[in-house]
Amino acid sequence: MPKKNVFVLSILCLISLALSAADKKSTTSSTEASKPSSEQPAKENLDLTMYQRIRDEGLAHSHIMEYASALIDDIGPRLTGSPNLKRANEWTRDQLTVMGCSNAHLEDWGEFGMGWQQLNTWVRMTSPDTAVFIAQAAPWSPSSNGAISGAAISVEIKKDEDIDKYKGKLSGKIVLLGEMREVKPVDKPLFEREDDKDLAKIAEHPLLEENEYAQYMRDFPKRMELQQKTWNLLASEHALAVILPSRDGRNSGGSGGTIFDDSRGLGQSAYKREHATPLPVVDMAIENYGRVYRLVKAHVPVTMEMNVDTKFTGDHEHGFDTIAEIPGTDPKLKDEVVMVGGHLDSWASGTGATDNGAGTVVAMEVMRIFNALQAKPRRTIRIGLWTGEEQGLFGSQGYVKQHFGFVPFSTAPDQMKLPEWMRKPAGPIQLKPEQEKISGYFNVDNGTGKILGIYLQENAAVRPIFEQWMEPLKDLGVTTITMRDTGGTDHESFDAVGIPGFQFIQDRMDYGSRTHHSNMDVYERLQAGDLAQAATVEAIFVYNAAMREQMLPRKPLPHPELEEQRKAPLKKVMPGAEEVPEKEAADNK
Ligand SMILES: [Zn+2]
Repeated sequence: MPKKNVFVLSILCLISLALSAADKKSTTSSTEASKPSSEQPAKENLDLTMYQRIRDEGLAHSHIMEYASALIDDIGPRLTGSPNLKRANEWTRDQLTVMGCSNAHLEDWGEFGMGWQQLNTWVRMTSPDTAVFIAQAAPWSPSSNGAISGAAISVEIKKDEDIDKYKGKLSGKIVLLGEMREVKPVDKPLFEREDDKDLAKIAEHPLLEENEYAQYMRDFPKRMELQQKTWNLLASEHALAVILPSRDGRNSGGSGGTIFDDSRGLGQSAYKREHATPLPVVDMAIENYGRVYRLVKAHVPVTMEMNVDTKFTGDHEHGFDTIAEIPGTDPKLKDEVVMVGGHLDSWASGTGATDNGAGTVVAMEVMRIFNALQAKPRRTIRIGLWTGEEQGLFGSQGYVKQHFGFVPFSTAPDQMKLPEWMRKPAGPIQLKPEQEKISGYFNVDNGTGKILGIYLQENAAVRPIFEQWMEPLKDLGVTTITMRDTGGTDHESFDAVGIPGFQFIQDRMDYGSRTHHSNMDVYERLQAGDLAQAATVEAIFVYNAAMREQMLPRKPLPHPELEEQRKAPLKKVMPGAEEVPEKEAADNK
C-alpha cells in the first residue's frame, strides 16, 4: 500500500503502527545497531559488473510475467485461509526450489480463522424491470443456499437512535445498507505516473503529521460498535441479505464496473467464527446500487433476486509464509541475512495481480536472477512471502515474532475494544538473538509501478548508502529518496523491532483508482516493463546489502513505552497561571 492518504481511504491494507521517532538515550542489545553511522564507510564499494549482469538478466531476460500468469491466472485470488492460498504457498515454495534456492519451506505463523471460497454470485432486479447487476460476495459472506428473492429496502444507520425505526420492517427483505454516494465523472486519468512535482513532494518531509489517520483511528471503536449493532439488528429482524455500495477510488475510479470488495463494512474480523457475518452480503457496482436506491427512495416497489454461493473450508485455518534462501558464502558473514519479500495473500473478487501478486513475483524474480547468475552473496539472501497481510500484517509479524522479536500491544481498556492489530504498541520491545543478524528487509507492495526511489523510514544514516547505490540506476528512473516513513505493509513488521525495513517508492499507475482490492485487480493491470525494472532494482539493492562489509545502519530501537510521556504537554509552562490542584486540572481537560 502507498502513502497514508490512500491508507485512510482503504482501511485494511494499511496499518501505521505510529512508531516513535528515535529515542536518543535508548540502549540496545544489538551491538551492530549501537554502532554510530560514522563507522560506515563514506564510499560504497559497488560491483558495477554485477549491476550490468543483473540488469541484463532482469531487463533483457525477464521471466517475471510467466510467474505472474501462473500465480494470477492459474492459482487465482488468494484470500488468507483459502484453499487457493494454500496452493500459492506450495507453488511458490516449489518454484523457489526449482530455480535453485535452498531450504524452501512453509512456516506456520499461527491460527488465522475461517477458510472461505466464493463459488458464484449473481444479483438481479426482477421488478419493476429486469436488470443484471455487477456484484460479488463480500469475503467470508455466508451462502444464501440457493437463489433468494425479496423486496429491496434501504437501511441507513448513522447513530444508535436510527436502529429503532427499522424494527419490524426488515423480515424477508434485501437490504441496501448505506446511503448512495456521489458518483463524479471520471475527468482525470485513472492511470498516472508520478511527475517531477509529485516526486519533489514525496522527497520533502511533512512538517506536521497528517491527522486524518489519527482521527480515523480515534473514531474507529465507536464506528465498530455501531456497525456491530447494525448487523445484530439485520440478523434479529431476519433480513434476507445485504447489498453494500462499492466505495470510490482515486480520481473517481470506483465506478464503470469496478467494485472494491474487501471486508470493509462487515464489522470486526469477519474471518473469525465468533464475528461471522450473519447473513449473505455482496458489494455491488455503484451505478447498480444507485438505480435500486433511487427507486426505493421514491417508493417504487423493487424486487430483487440473488444467489450468493460460498463455501467455508474450516474454522481454524492456519496461516503460512513461504521462505527460501540463497546461502551466504563468506565464512564471516554467511550467518547474517538480507531479506526480500512481499505478501502473497490477496482479496477475492479479482485475482490479486497488483495487490500483491506484483510484489510476490518481483521478489521471486529477484531470487531467479541470483540463481541464473549463480551469484555467491557474502550474506545469506532470504525471501519471505507473507500471508494475512490484508487483515493486519499477520504473516510478517508472526515471522518477525518467531525470529527477531516483538512489540507487546497496549492492554488499556479503550485499546482492548480494537482488533489486536490496531492496538497501540506498548513496548518495551522484546528481542531475540537473530535480530542482530539481519541487515535489512526490502518490500514491494504498492502495485505494478516501477521503482522510483525509496522511503528511508526515517533512517537518516542509510541515506548516503542508498544514494550511492542509486546513482547508476538513474537511467531506470530511480531518483528519489525521502526520509518519510510509509505505512501499511510488511516492512513495518521489521521496522517495529529495530530492523532496517524498506518499501520502495513506486509509480502510482491505476493502483488507487482501479485495482487496489477491486474486481479489476487482474493480470491485464500488470505492466511487464515496470515489473522487470522493479525486480532488477530490488535485486541490486539486495545484492549490495548482501555484499558490503557492514550491515545496514540502524535507527535507535523504538521505545513505544515512552511515547505517551514524551507527547504529554509540558507542565507549568504558562508564567501567569495560578496553581490548580492536580485532580481539578485533570477534570477540566
Ligand atoms: Zn497489499
